[in-house]
Order: sequence, then structure tokens, then C-alpha cells
Amino acid sequence: MPPTRFLTDASLEFLAHRLVFLGYDVAVIRGARLEELFEAARRDGRTVLTLSTRHPRRFAEVAAIVVPRTEPQAALRAIAAAHEPSGAPFSRCPLCNTVLQTRHPMEARGEVPGRVVRRVTTLRHCPMCGKWYWDGTHTARLRAWLEQAIGRALAQGGASGAGGEPTH
Ligand SMILES: [Zn+2]
Repeated sequence: MPPTRFLTDASLEFLAHRLVFLGYDVAVIRGARLEELFEAARRDGRTVLTLSTRHPRRFAEVAAIVVPRTEPQAALRAIAAAHEPSGAPFSRCPLCNTVLQTRHPMEARGEVPGRVVRRVTTLRHCPMCGKWYWDGTHTARLRAWLEQAIGRALAQGGASGAGGEPTH
């Protein structure tokens, strides 16, 4: 099953971030109108995630998933069960969807707290927005939330993680 790449707008950013944490490639276009989302999805070969049940007729061939506003956990579970992610959990930047690079802690010196540099063996760095990620208590909480949502354990992926300050 080839990975499914998604596209959505700011109304589903919460879901988008969590899918990115699971390893999905999810582009977010803030403030896009529905037609603009479908247009971009067609151009990029992506599947639209939307709250809207309206599917513009001229984009009939573009795949779309309608997400119920009140049930993000159920939506996450349904998507994770039916679609292949593009990479491992915690392998992409939740802020900008870029694939993270593994870096040695010494490279993060001066940019992350010294106690982190001393404790971890690897960190991940976003080459796009410059943010550093590492395993921490926030990662453990997020992992628990995601595992509960999708109803199964996530692969333990070494020192991959989304540390730093929580984004939610
Ligand atoms: Zn980033």
C-alpha cells in the first residue's frame, strides 16, 4: 500500500499535527477556501481532509475524507487504520511537515538546554524551521495519547521524538 499524503486547512490543524506525529505527510494551507484545497490536492496528488461535506463537482476525481468536527480521536483511528504513513512516528516536524534530520547533541549546544544535551544521545532537527526535538515527558504524554487514539502501540523508534516546548 503506497503512503497517503494529505492536505488540509487550519480548521483541522489539531488532527493534522497528530497525523504528522504518526509519520503522515500532511500539508496545511491556512485560510484556504475549499476549492483552493481541492486544486492544491489535485496538483500535489494529495487527499483532502475537510470538515465540509461538500465535494466540488469539478474536483470529483480528488480523494477527500470528511472528518467529523467532534471526534478527532475517532478520525485519527480511522485514517491510521486505512492509510499508510510516509515515515516512522515522530520523523516529521509537526510545525511545518518537513522530514527531520538526526543530529548529534553537540550540534544542538547553545540552542537547547544543557541538561538535554548531556542526557540524550541523538536529537532531531528541522532544516526548514530550525526547531530541535528530543524525547522528553511531553513526548511520552503525546505517545500515550496517540496510542489510545489509534488503539495500538507505536513502534519504539530509538531517540526520535518531539521534545522542546509542547506545541499544544
Ligand atoms: Zn519545521
